[in-house]
Amino acid sequence: MFEYAPAPESRDVVDIKPSYQLFIGGEWVDSEGDNRNKTINPASEEVLAEVAWATEADVDRAVGAARKAFGTWSAMPGSERAKYLFRIARIIQERSRELAVLESLDNGKPIRESRDVDLPLVAAHFFYYAGWADKLGYAGYGPDPRPLGVAGQVIPWNFPLLMLAWKIAPALACGNTVVLKPAETTPLTALLFAEICRQADLPPGVVNIVTGAGETGAALVNHPGVDKVAFTGSTEVGRLIARSVAGSGKKVTLELGGKAANIVFDDAALDQAVEGVVNGIFFNQGHVCCAGSRLLVQESVADELLGALKRRLATLRLGDPLDKNTDIGAINSAAQLAKIRELSDLGEAEGAERWSPVCPLPDRGFWFPPTIFTGVAQSHRIAREEVFGPVLSVLTFRTPAEAVEKANNTPFGLSAGVWTEKGSRILWMADRLRAGVVWANTFNRFDPASPFGGYKESGYGREGGRHGLEAYLDV
Ligand code: NDP
Repeated sequence: MFEYAPAPESRDVVDIKPSYQLFIGGEWVDSEGDNRNKTINPASEEVLAEVAWATEADVDRAVGAARKAFGTWSAMPGSERAKYLFRIARIIQERSRELAVLESLDNGKPIRESRDVDLPLVAAHFFYYAGWADKLGYAGYGPDPRPLGVAGQVIPWNFPLLMLAWKIAPALACGNTVVLKPAETTPLTALLFAEICRQADLPPGVVNIVTGAGETGAALVNHPGVDKVAFTGSTEVGRLIARSVAGSGKKVTLELGGKAANIVFDDAALDQAVEGVVNGIFFNQGHVCCAGSRLLVQESVADELLGALKRRLATLRLGDPLDKNTDIGAINSAAQLAKIRELSDLGEAEGAERWSPVCPLPDRGFWFPPTIFTGVAQSHRIAREEVFGPVLSVLTFRTPAEAVEKANNTPFGLSAGVWTEKGSRILWMADRLRAGVVWANTFNRFDPASPFGGYKESGYGREGGRHGLEAYLDV
């Protein structure tokens, strides 16, 4: 492999304040508590900023502001709400470089991904749902579907701004107001989004951002003034939330973990499949709920595919997320790195064979090399649990029926991939795979018009597309 000269994106395009307040009722306000939280750059461990840690009282103020704004926002004609959403979408496009750099700094993901995947999708979500705002009567939910009220939204750290867009765009299009809590380790793009709401002259209180930790999230979802809870994160916290809101009358959508099978048949175009496998598990350091973390490969092509995959992995560049040549960035936090290490060590202890390319890791920050486990049994924990890191478990199969059985042998059901030349086999597999999304000859493709969500322990409800409106309408 020949060397590339470093091509760093400038971090001067973004202005990070030393300290951030809460965004409530269209204003920056102090938290009523004294706690603050530092957010760091996971690639260098440098402190980027201090953010407020919202208390229950702060959450109460934010829900109050959202309630107050709900009256006028929900009464506004859809065509007027659409104008705000279109304006937000355009500002996101205009400021996309700044947002992409900030996302990479706070999250550790390569700038190539934040710039070319996250940000275009974020803008696309706002454009898409702006288009629905004045057409809700044609969405199939009755002639005049009504919004729910105040939405309490809690998002994770793997796609901070994209998850914000998935939550806020449909909520606002339908006439709801929102209080959103970003993840503790990645609050900065949500706070910049708050600025964008002001720039777009969004009426005060329609969007409120409360930063904090798990307790803040719990205070939000349990607040009696919240009519709708939308959560993306771990199955464990999803379960807690489902339990705590049961019987409250709140409408809930949960988008939780996954352990997707990426299934390669012997007639697939293997070079393309290799790219799909790499994209499936090494995109965003594997911090992807729908990651193709289990490769199921037909036995007759397993050696050939693995050989090609290993050669391809040896060309991946790990390092500075702001370098435009970087393929694999930093792991988001020390805690997540510890979890990836623990599960990988367990994989070896349970008898699977571990392989990584030669891959020097930077001295500072949180890093994990791309890793493949072969000889994995379905009972191994690396084949059952969500590692949420750049770790691929490889299993083999002989017949399509065996592939289906192994793919479905998981408590999750978020996504799956099928690689084959045969259209009829794709349809046969898609019918049988218990997964919300099945990709054919591709992986990790997202589009605002396409619904996304899970079966089983991957959660319930759909985000995206016409189906995504249902979660925010009183239907
Ligand atoms: P969590 O599910 O804990 O975090 C998701 C969001 O929920 C964060 O904003 C978090 O706040 C908040 N939260 C935490 N506890 C509560 C609570 N009791 N009530 C309401 N909100 C709460 O995920 P982690 O960040 O702890 O990651 C743990 C594991 O979860 C990962 O290793 C990964 O396997 C999986 N995960 C899966 C995701 C997916 O999309 N499928 C996304 C993220 C994680 P805070 O950040 O402040 O703790």
